[in-house]
Amino acid sequence: MTVYEHTMVGVNFALAAGLQRRFGWGIAVASALAAAVPDWDGLSILFGSAAYATVHRTWGHSVLTASLLGAAIGVVAYYGACPALLRRLGARFGFQSRLATAPVRSWIGPVVWLTVGVVAAMSHLLADLFYASGDKGLAAWPVQLFWPFSSRGWVFPTVPYGDLATTLLFVAEMFALYRWPKRTQLLAQISLAVVVLYVAARWYRT
Ligand SMILES: [Zn+2]
Repeated sequence: MTVYEHTMVGVNFALAAGLQRRFGWGIAVASALAAAVPDWDGLSILFGSAAYATVHRTWGHSVLTASLLGAAIGVVAYYGACPALLRRLGARFGFQSRLATAPVRSWIGPVVWLTVGVVAAMSHLLADLFYASGDKGLAAWPVQLFWPFSSRGWVFPTVPYGDLATTLLFVAEMFALYRWPKRTQLLAQISLAVVVLYVAARWYRT
């Protein structure tokens, strides 16, 4: 999956659970960010292909670093980063009606946001395990889930990394969300279910 599909998986987690109704749209933004963030290790490409080959799918893709970053994103977002940003953007572009309701002032709020951040980050690792088969003869790229304690890589090549069908599904979903805003939760649930079934079907065929 590319960053776009990871982001959409994160958004869909929050929407499928209906969390935006209680915590505002900031939680969907936080979930999207957490779902994409493990790919920060891909920035190692700036230091050359050798660094990229060593660092990508390693430093950011371990259960330890990904869950810590996901948790941090959830907590930081809960305590104001995303709601404040959304309020500013909302005031600028006029979508106040969809802004966050006031965060729930109890221990439940931070715990939910932290959990969403961790789950979204874990979704990235899970997806990368299956969205790993190389296009055009490129080898599958294992994910080092337990870095830095182990350098063992895991991969179950099932769907090509930049699979077009998954991209088109999420693009179609975005149009559907725009067309039927009252069906947000159902559309997110359907989209996630379709992705899981699609991967399962391709797994079955391989
Ligand atoms: Zn990745």
